[in-house]
Amino acid sequence: MVLRIGIAMLQGAREEHASAIDSAAKEMALDVDIVELRNSHDIANLDALVLPGGESTTMRLASKYRGLLEGIFEWIESNPESPVMGTCAGAILLCQPGNGREPFLNAEISRNSFGRQVDSFQAALNVELDGESSDYPGVFIRAPRFESNEEQAVAYLNEEVVGLTKGNRMALTFHPELTEDLRFHRWLLKRANEGAVN
Ligand code: GLN
Repeated sequence: MVLRIGIAMLQGAREEHASAIDSAAKEMALDVDIVELRNSHDIANLDALVLPGGESTTMRLASKYRGLLEGIFEWIESNPESPVMGTCAGAILLCQPGNGREPFLNAEISRNSFGRQVDSFQAALNVELDGESSDYPGVFIRAPRFESNEEQAVAYLNEEVVGLTKGNRMALTFHPELTEDLRFHRWLLKRANEGAVN
């Protein structure tokens, strides 16, 4: 069985997610096929989906022509159990899909919210995932911030929540694809593997 993992190729950190998924799959002895999503027709038979970081405004604009984002949102709505990971701008899109859609995770998120002087930084996080709790190297690039949150917190920067899950959906304000620690990608693949039917 080969797991089909879609990555939205709108803009931003796409290749890094692809190689993180490849490496995590090797660690887990899983076969994966990375499906590069460029237009809405590419979204078929996916076992999981990644919305990378970048600029959410640019992504919304870039998507207009081929309807990729709308296609992705429809796919998430009609596959509520399917694993989805949104990082940074991807987290913004999951929490604020726009066009009158219900958010995919219930959290208020504000863009570029760590202030200009600390636009980008690295910091040790505390991550609590799948019953394990430990430090994690968090990379923040013009990151958004959760202003309020009704979901399961999985990552903390000091006391502040920077990662959430709702069932098989995950929203992270940092960039797990830019570190060697693959536990977030393993989280996604584990769920994709459990849910895969073919
Ligand atoms: N600042 C970006 C936005 O508002 C997010 C930054 C990122 O994805 N690295 O969309």
